[in-house]
Amino acid sequence: MTVEAETDVIVVGAGPAGSATAIHLARAGRSVLLLDKSTFPRSKVCGDGLTPRAIRELDLLGVDTHGEQWRKTAGLIIHTSRPQAYQLPWPELDAFPSYGAVRRREEFDDVLRRHAVAAGARFRDGVLVTGPLRDDTGRICGVETDAGQFRAPVVVAADGNSARLALAAGIDRDPSRPMGVAVRTYFRSPFGDDLWLHSWLELWDGAPGRSTLLPGYAWSFPLGDGVANVGLGLPSTAKAFGKISYRDLLQRWLAATPSGWGFTEENRLEPIGSAALPMGFNRHPAYRDGLMLVGDAAGVVSPFNGEGISSALETGRIAAEHIVAAFDRGVRAPAGEAELKAYPRHLADLWGGYYCFGRLFLAVVGQPALMRIAARHILPVPGVAGLMHKLMANLTNERPVDLPDRIVHLVSRIVPADRP
Ligand SMILES: Cc1cc2nc3c(=O)[nH]c(=O)nc-3n(C[C@H](O)[C@H](O)[C@H](O)COP(=O)(O)OP(=O)(O)OC[C@H]3O[C@@H](n4cnc5c(N)ncnc54)[C@H](O)[C@@H]3O)c2cc1C
Repeated sequence: MTVEAETDVIVVGAGPAGSATAIHLARAGRSVLLLDKSTFPRSKVCGDGLTPRAIRELDLLGVDTHGEQWRKTAGLIIHTSRPQAYQLPWPELDAFPSYGAVRRREEFDDVLRRHAVAAGARFRDGVLVTGPLRDDTGRICGVETDAGQFRAPVVVAADGNSARLALAAGIDRDPSRPMGVAVRTYFRSPFGDDLWLHSWLELWDGAPGRSTLLPGYAWSFPLGDGVANVGLGLPSTAKAFGKISYRDLLQRWLAATPSGWGFTEENRLEPIGSAALPMGFNRHPAYRDGLMLVGDAAGVVSPFNGEGISSALETGRIAAEHIVAAFDRGVRAPAGEAELKAYPRHLADLWGGYYCFGRLFLAVVGQPALMRIAARHILPVPGVAGLMHKLMANLTNERPVDLPDRIVHLVSRIVPADRP
């Protein structure tokens, strides 16, 4: 077994959360070892959709999203059983760009990983982390892997939904917090060259109006070159959650779509993949004994829309800020430890109210009848679709300028915060 010299920080997992953490830390002058069990580039089951929130984080990371490899989007089109769809451009906001993008995760994650290496992080792929190393006091001081031991005074768990490191450190999932499951595949389709993300809010388990209505939504996201990422997601508040095959559900939903959309077996380009969506701080505490959780490992997928890339990037940035401050104040000193302990509080201040409200939102949409009433009778009320768009993508001005901003801010403030 090899035992390597100590680095400042070990980051486990080179998805968006891990690479973002590594980039911010390396830029701040810390030595970083980024480990991943996969060999890069690697694919990841995802909708590949990036909201303006994610684009803002990419800007902060120095990733240029203007090239043609980034399929830019103008906003979201919401379909319900009403004939008229709702076309909702990304809002014009002071703190966010007014465009989103779609890019295959195989490429996207590799772009970020290469930025981490360019910033100075040391990257090793094909290294499976099996658990934490602890010192005599019980504090985590490195990781055990299939390639030996690696030591650092701070370890970041960015290993995604499996959360193997957090689990091995005794940080379990909180079953009172929501979960989701999503499935997706790729089709050659006219939707592939659209400028818009499409989502179908009334999720029928077969023919619309003649089968069971489920909570959740289906999507088609354009990758360009006539290829669309198509999938659906179901929250844990759904009665059917955990009891049905999500792949079969997607197959039934696809079979009921008009043939002109191209979602047919002949046009399917890849197998159907599925994965869990850990939502609303469903693993906590996000810091304990030298181990920090970011991204899916911390369960920060949005309960409103299943978006997890922007929060993975954001938790990476925020975790890095606290780690850098901890090193400045003495990473093994009480003042440094206080900096690390402040990370979950920072997340709670940022999203605690919003995620708690999201939990309530999922309890409501878990009732298909209520979801149907909302889609048919509430969404058409002027202004409501725009408000929902801002709320679900968490896109508001930092200083509210219009009614939707004010409502979203107020709701996030008055709802008691869920703690990460
Ligand atoms: C079907 C589906 C569609 C989705 N669509 C969207 C979308 O359109 N937009 C959006 O914003 N979000 C979407 N999400 C959510 C999004 O994919 C995740 O939230 C996001 O990938 C989280 O990033 P992460 O860096 O935390 O984890 P991951 O991207 O999962 O990265 C974790 C990394 O850790 C590595 N790893 C794991 N275990 C170990 C170990 N023991 N040792 C070493 N390395 C390890 C893995 O190889 C991987 O590279 C979707 C999810 C699903 C399932």
